[in-house]
Amino acid sequence: MPYTDTDIRFVKGIGEKRAQLFKKRLGLYTLQDLITYYPRAYEDWSNITRIDEAPMNEAVCIKAKIASEIEKSTTKNKKIEAYRFYIYDRTGQIQVTLYSKYSAANLEKDKEYLFYGKIKWSGTFRNMSSPDIRPFTDAKIRPVYPATEGLTSNQIAQNISTLFENIKLEEFLPDNIVKQYNLLSHQEAVTKIHFPQDKNDILNARKRLAFEELLLLRLGLTGLRNRARGNTSKRVLPIGLDEIKNLFSFELTNAQKRVITACLNDMQGIHPMNRLIQGDVGSGKTAVAAALCYATVKSGYMGVMLAPTEILATQHHKSFTDLFKSKGYNVALLTGSLSAKNKALIKSEVKNGNVDILVATHAVLTDDVELPNTALVITDEQHRFGVSQRAMLSKKAEHPHTLVMSATPIPRTMGLVVYGDLDISIIDELPRGRIPIKSYLVDTPLRQRSINYIKKHLEQGYQGYVVCPMIDATPENELASATEYAKQLEEGLLKGYTIGLLHGKMKPKDKDKVMAEFAEGKINVLVSTTVIEVGIDVPNAVIMVVENAERFGLSQLHQLRGRVGRGTAESSCIFISNSTSPTTNERLRSLCATTDGFKIAEADLKLRGPGNFLGKEQHGLPKLKIADLLEDQQILFAASKAAEDILNTDVKLSLPQHSELKFRVNDLFSERRKIEFN
Ligand code: ADP
Ligand code: MG
Repeated sequence: MPYTDTDIRFVKGIGEKRAQLFKKRLGLYTLQDLITYYPRAYEDWSNITRIDEAPMNEAVCIKAKIASEIEKSTTKNKKIEAYRFYIYDRTGQIQVTLYSKYSAANLEKDKEYLFYGKIKWSGTFRNMSSPDIRPFTDAKIRPVYPATEGLTSNQIAQNISTLFENIKLEEFLPDNIVKQYNLLSHQEAVTKIHFPQDKNDILNARKRLAFEELLLLRLGLTGLRNRARGNTSKRVLPIGLDEIKNLFSFELTNAQKRVITACLNDMQGIHPMNRLIQGDVGSGKTAVAAALCYATVKSGYMGVMLAPTEILATQHHKSFTDLFKSKGYNVALLTGSLSAKNKALIKSEVKNGNVDILVATHAVLTDDVELPNTALVITDEQHRFGVSQRAMLSKKAEHPHTLVMSATPIPRTMGLVVYGDLDISIIDELPRGRIPIKSYLVDTPLRQRSINYIKKHLEQGYQGYVVCPMIDATPENELASATEYAKQLEEGLLKGYTIGLLHGKMKPKDKDKVMAEFAEGKINVLVSTTVIEVGIDVPNAVIMVVENAERFGLSQLHQLRGRVGRGTAESSCIFISNSTSPTTNERLRSLCATTDGFKIAEADLKLRGPGNFLGKEQHGLPKLKIADLLEDQQILFAASKAAEDILNTDVKLSLPQHSELKFRVNDLFSERRKIEFN
C-alpha cells in the first residue's frame, strides 16, 4: 500500500482531535486526501500596494509601520471591544480596527507589518477593519482553503506545509509523457499548487495536476470498457439490413441504417457491444432499438429496454407490441406501478424465459429481478441514468451487449468523460419529410394570441401541448401552474375542446391514462409540467406553448420542443418569457434560431457550467478536484491521447513502471465502484 493511503492522523502536527476535524468536517482521511485538498483561492501578499494608491473595497496587502499606541475602546454597553491604531508607509496613512484582543496583543508601535484586507471609508478615515496581520518578511502568495469551525485556512496550510517537509512524492507518470506534454513533476506541482512563488507557478501546477487527474479518469473509464471487451458474450445471428428494413412501415434513414449496421456488427462479434447512440430528438432512436431487439430475439435471447419514466416505458411497450405482433413475440412491461401480484407474475415469466422483450423502468434495477438469457440491454435517454447503474445492470444480465441512447447531445469534451467507457455513434439525420419546427419567443402580453394560435391548429384536427413550470399555483410566485392553466383553458379560450392535465405527482395509472387518451387523439391539448420532456411521441401534436421559458435550461427547452415536429405537418413552438433580462431573452432567441441540439448543448454548457449541465443524475463519476471540463478542454484532449498511448503499450497497466498509476486509477474510482485491471 503506498504511503499516500496513510491515515491523516500520522501527519506531524495533526493530533487526534484535529484529525477528527479533518475527517468529520472536511472529509479528509488520508495523506492523499490532504495533498489533493487544493486551495480554493490565493491571497497575494507578495503584491504590496502603496497606501496612496490602494483602491477601496478590494483586498490589498499593505506594508506599513504602526504609527500610534493601540487604543482600546468599548461600545456603550461594553459588549464590543475595539482596538484602533494608525499605520503608515512612505505614501500615506490609514486607520486599522481590530476586534480581537488576541490579534492586537503582540503588535508594537514603530514596527513594520503586512496588513491584508479591504480599505473602507469609516466616515472620518480610510479604515482597514480586521485585516490579517503578519511579519513584514512574510510577503508571499498564500493559499486559501475551504475552512471549517475549529480549523482555519491558516492551520490547514500549516499542516500541509509540515507534511511536505517530511515526505517525498514519487513521479508516477511515465517520463516520456512528462516530457512530451511539458509537465512539472508531480512533487513540484503539488508543492507549487499549495505554496506558489508567483502566478506562473499556479498556472503550471494547475496544468500538471489537471492533466494527471483527467489522465487517471480516462484510464479508468477506458479500463472499464476494456474489461467489458474481454468478456465472452452472446453473439447474435448474422441478420442483415434487408431483413430489418421489412420491420418498418417507413424507410430507414441512412443514419439509422449506418448505426444499426454498426450495432449489429458489434453484437455479432466476440466482445460485448458497449455503445452510445446520440441522436437529436426525433431522429428515430426507437426504431434502432427495435431493430436490435429483433436481432436479439431472432437469435434466441431476451432483449431488455429501460426507460426513465413510466410514461415512456408504457409508450415503448405499446410500440414494440404493435411492431412485433405479427411475429408472435412476447413483449412484457415491468414498472413500479404494477400491482405486487402482476410484478411477481412478470418477473417469473422473465425468469422462466417466456418473455422475448422486456420493457421496464428503473424498478428492475433495484428489484430482485433475474435476467437470464439476456443478450441486449438498452437504456433510453441515458442522461437520466448513471454510470454505476449501467454497470450494475450489465452485471445482472451477465455482460450482455449494452446500448445507451441519448437525445441530450453532449459536447465532445464532456462526452469523453461522461461516456468515456463507450463507443459512440451519432444519428445526424432526421427522417425525410420533416419540416423544421418554427420557434418564436414572445412576452406575456402575447399569451392570448398564442392560445388562439393553438386553437387554429385544433380546428384543423391537430393537437397541442402547453408546458408550465409548476404543478399547482402558489401565492409566493407568479409562475404558471399546470392545474390552474388547464382549468382556465377549459373554461375560457379553448372551451369545447378536451384539455388533459399531466404532472409528476399524479399516480402512474392516471398518467398512463391521460397519455393514452392524448395519443389516441381523445385529448386535444395536454397541459403538462416537464414530465413530457423525454421521449413522448405523438406525431399529430404540432404546436407547443412553453410558459415561463426563462426558467428552463436551453437543452431542456430543446427536448421539450422535440415533442412536436414528429409528423409531416409543420409544427411550431412558442416560448413565452416573463424575463426582462436581455441576456436571458438573448439566450432564448438563440434557441429559436437553431434546432441543432449539439450547438444548443454547447451554449448551455457554457452558460451553466458542467455541474448543472450534467445534473445530479450522473452519479458514478469521481468528482474532479482541480480539472474543469470547460476550461481545460485542451488538457483533456492531451490527457486522453496520453491515456491511449499508455494503454496501447500496456492495456492492463501491469508493467512495473505503471503500478503506481494503476493504484491511483483504482483509488480514484474506489469509493463508487471498483475498476480492476485484472
Ligand atoms: P427519438 O430519437 O426522439 O427517440 P423516435 O424514435 O421517437 O425519436 O421517433 C420519432 C418519430 O419518427 C416516431 O414517430 C417514429 O415512428 C418516426 N420515425 C422514426 N424513423 C423514421 C423514418 N426513418 N422515417 C419516418 N419516420 C420515422
Ligand atoms: Mg426516444
